[in-house]
Amino acid sequence: MSPLYCALVHHPVRDRAGCVVTTAVTNLDVHDIARSARTYGLAGYFVVTPVEAQRQIVERILEHWRTGAGARRVPERTEALALVQIVASVAEARDAVADREGSPPRVLATAARAVDGVPLRRFAEEAETLRAGEVPVLLLFGTGHGLVDDTVLDADALLEPIRATSSYNHLSVRAAAAICLDRLVGDRLAGE
Ligand code: SAM
Repeated sequence: MSPLYCALVHHPVRDRAGCVVTTAVTNLDVHDIARSARTYGLAGYFVVTPVEAQRQIVERILEHWRTGAGARRVPERTEALALVQIVASVAEARDAVADREGSPPRVLATAARAVDGVPLRRFAEEAETLRAGEVPVLLLFGTGHGLVDDTVLDADALLEPIRATSSYNHLSVRAAAAICLDRLVGDRLAGE
């Protein structure tokens, strides 16, 4: 099974007008995606922000839940947040995986939209590759209005967008991350 990592990217991301912005880290994204990452057995979860003050805020949140009152009150949350590492860039996350795993990860971007010029990976084929593989994989999730095209084009592939039956396509990144993880490494035996 390939070691699987995810990263929540706060810069560079797009705003509603398609401009490149930096979004603020939200406590909910840190907690919820950490809980999904722990549930699906990920090897790590990177919170990506170039803003030093934001990294300090996240460090304080993690301290509270790793060794402070939060850890005493909700010990299972400590286990989830133990996966979180704060980095300044996607490149730093990629390097951290390479250092830890001994080989650079395949990088998969995610988006609610198609992006020309990057291979599209179906959930089923990627799930099979993960099951059979050894090469680590880093899954990138965006904030704001999504990852910028350059980040997607720099990735090894774009994971196919989650599609439901309606034309409404505005999932939160927390929901999208959970759905992606379940489709990639969820236990299908229960449903088969
Ligand atoms: N319109 C944005 C886009 O195309 O990515 C969606 C922004 S959403 C608030 C933030 C992140 O959630 C996206 O960058 C992506 O990582 C994830 N996401 C949202 N909807 C998704 C979908 N239908 N399929 C895959 N990922 C999705």
